[in-house]
Amino acid sequence: MIDFQPLFQAVRQAAVLCRRVQEHYLISSDKGGHEPVTIADYGAQAILSRAISQHFPDDAILAEEQGGQFMELVSEDLRKEVIQLISDILDTPVTQVEVVKWLDYGQNREAERTWVIDPIDGTKGYISLRNYAIAVGLMHNRKPIGGIIGAPSYPGGAQLFHAQSGVAYMQPLAGGAVKRIHTSTRTESASLRALESVEKSHANHDRMQHVREVAGLGEATLIHIDSMEKYARIAAADGELYLRLPRIGSTRPFMIWDHCAGTAIVEAAGGQVTDIDGSPLNYSSGKTLNNQGIVVSNGAIHDRIIAAIQQVLKEENPT
Ligand code: AMP
Ligand code: MG
Repeated sequence: MIDFQPLFQAVRQAAVLCRRVQEHYLISSDKGGHEPVTIADYGAQAILSRAISQHFPDDAILAEEQGGQFMELVSEDLRKEVIQLISDILDTPVTQVEVVKWLDYGQNREAERTWVIDPIDGTKGYISLRNYAIAVGLMHNRKPIGGIIGAPSYPGGAQLFHAQSGVAYMQPLAGGAVKRIHTSTRTESASLRALESVEKSHANHDRMQHVREVAGLGEATLIHIDSMEKYARIAAADGELYLRLPRIGSTRPFMIWDHCAGTAIVEAAGGQVTDIDGSPLNYSSGKTLNNQGIVVSNGAIHDRIIAAIQQVLKEENPT
């Protein structure tokens, strides 16, 4: 079994960096006109990739940020500040050359094992001081088999989730007892908690409400949260459904780092993660998933949701 301890430590260190940036340095730059990216994204990824480079040097990495962007998009002063922060947190002096090397480590490499990193998932939530996640997925031959999610804003206190060998666990992010987790068995409409993105541009909220109604689950309590924390909540029985249906006509692909760790953790906890037709997500083609939407559930309500989506698709496209 792979020893996840170095990654747990790296996720904890990354979370410390994220918090310090939030407290002192929260300044965003613009990455190609899309997602706001902060220096914490680069700092957290450098810490995570460094741990992988030290403990699993032959493995491949797929990660959201790139060393070239760090050099190009972040001012020299801010680069110095984040490098100093990394040095403080790792308690060892770190150079810019090392940070860039870690950011790109293991990328453009094929290996049996691939680590999939989203250093800050839900950057908009992070910037707005809402929810975000630090995510590290693990694929074997391009199938998610493990994952770690740090959830600093988890209700009741920051948590660290992980899955390995088909079993899911949670523990306090600061350290403490490790607890096995299972998805909830709830199926009754009024008892359900449906999770979805805060950002209206990330998914079609009206379409998702319609699907829940068609499935007879319209009374579910709706909870809007950013990031892969949605997966963690379903794995820990703090939610039953996470729908991600794109806006009609959207051509934006789903990125594997937004789903890999969550998929492994929810499946290991007894839940299901599929495309809108009930088929497994396909992680085999590069950085993107080739699917039409994402349905994450406790398992017990999955078939009802898939059937409802198929009915809604027929309504949307009458022949
Ligand atoms: P969430 O907080 O669940 O909406 O997920 C955050 C993730 O949504 C980010 O990491 C982005 O990769 C992704 N994202 C950003 N913009 C969009 C968009 N327009 N449509 C779909 N997903 C997006
Ligand atoms: Mg993300």
